[in-house]
Amino acid sequence: MTDQRQRPPTTTDAGVPVASDEHSLTVGPNGPLLLQDHYLIEQMANFNRERIPERQPHAKGGGAFGAFQVTSDVSAYTRAAVFQPGTETEAIVRFSTVAGERGSPDTWRDPRGFAVKLYTSAGNLDIVGNNTPIFFIKDPMKFQHFIRSQKRRADNNLRDHDMQWDFWTLSPESAHQVTWLMGDRGIPRTWRHMNGYGSHTYMWINARGEKFWIKYHFKTDQGIEFFTQDEADQMASADTDYHQRDLFEHIAAGQFPSWTLYVQVMPFEQARTYRFNPFDLTKVWPHGDYPLHEVGRLTLNRNVTDYHTEMEQAAFEPNNVVPGTGLSPDKMLLARGFSYADAHRARLGVNYRQIPVNSPKVPVHSYSKDGAMRVRNVTDPVYAPNSYGGPQAQPNLTDDGGTWYADGEMVRAAYSSHAEDDDWGQAGTMVRQVLDDAARDRLVDNIVGHLLNGVSEPVLQRAFEYWRNVDKHLGDRVAAGVRAKQ
Ligand code: NDP
Repeated sequence: MTDQRQRPPTTTDAGVPVASDEHSLTVGPNGPLLLQDHYLIEQMANFNRERIPERQPHAKGGGAFGAFQVTSDVSAYTRAAVFQPGTETEAIVRFSTVAGERGSPDTWRDPRGFAVKLYTSAGNLDIVGNNTPIFFIKDPMKFQHFIRSQKRRADNNLRDHDMQWDFWTLSPESAHQVTWLMGDRGIPRTWRHMNGYGSHTYMWINARGEKFWIKYHFKTDQGIEFFTQDEADQMASADTDYHQRDLFEHIAAGQFPSWTLYVQVMPFEQARTYRFNPFDLTKVWPHGDYPLHEVGRLTLNRNVTDYHTEMEQAAFEPNNVVPGTGLSPDKMLLARGFSYADAHRARLGVNYRQIPVNSPKVPVHSYSKDGAMRVRNVTDPVYAPNSYGGPQAQPNLTDDGGTWYADGEMVRAAYSSHAEDDDWGQAGTMVRQVLDDAARDRLVDNIVGHLLNGVSEPVLQRAFEYWRNVDKHLGDRVAAGVRAKQ
């Protein structure tokens, strides 16, 4: 019990003590209210402005702080300080659903965001991935359309499976991710029981300047667990915030979840001739071609103390790459490098990196100046080049951020094709070789249930063909399952 005598006095936001937490200032006990009750006005005005725009998408989420500890030696592939043997780095992770709004149920079928920020000794490294190694599309021109198709209709403001399947079946590159989504991992039991993937291909650069293409895999140390559709539906009404609660309570009880980070490493030159385009976000690199190398362990061990300042305002952005790491020619990644930072500017203001949760743990010497909510002092000189001791860029960092050779005519075109590139192959491999009979049965049931929920002709017929392209037998079962229940 708090000692009442030790409670601090309530103050206004300006630190001025106030006389009452309960009564507004009135003329006599029955009013009217007085305009000079600035504390009342401050309380009402602040309340009216409490909500900031929610993320579009990934609005519903939660997470925690933790640490990333390097457990292996991957210095042959990267000189990034954060990945050198024994290094420990503070981290924050945010998990989320994609399509739902801030109050939506945690257990809707949806990919989960898995966004990691590492406060490294060379600035922030953000790995902003999902719990899936792939994505629905591969060109950023389609991203906005894709998200709109998963959210709400213009007329009735309802989510709409017809709209979702219309987009998917007209976008065959989605097949791999939709297969994944309709399978068991489409509804993780908790955030602790799912993997995270950087999804994109990134670059690593070692101390000799050699470049490698890599993919990040955070594998859960708790094991993979999922909800069936029925279990998830029940949980959606029993506890809308089940995933958020589960994480918070486990960390509060000292049961810290962890993930082991692995990377797949592709020598730089192999990208040209690899059987799949290694930058295509709808494809994985089969483990048989590029095995996993252990890097370290990510542990979440500290809950946020204020959700708004530490989680709602947390801003993850894949453009945050540190020396020894870089981007790749993945068109989705390059576009996200702009659009995430831009979303944060729109949602939080241009100085969002000065919010403590987004601030690096190293000194900042940028030439950014002024703007709304600027709180860090700028020192002169405010321009470069200058002869007055201002910060100076380091030309020997030219390879960082990831560089590669590019030359060609400007075109609007699909990626150039590699030997085994097609939209259905890897999805078919998952259905036939990764899933067992019981998982395949659940996949059919999930797809049939989803299609029976408002999908109409001609989208329905196209959906049957879509699944036959993934796997003939699967498509036939889906068609039969839907027709039997119509
Ligand atoms: P592997 O047999 O080496 O790997 C298959 C992987 O599939 C597993 O390691 C596991 O990934 C993942 N997996 C297992 N069950 C499910 C499920 N129900 N839903 C989604 N993923 C599951 O084969 P390949 O590497 O040759 O890949 C074969 C297929 O597996 C791919 O076409 C792709 O669909 C899928 N896959 C591949 C991944 C990769 O990076 N190579 C990653 C995930 C899926 P994990 O070990 O990451 O848990």
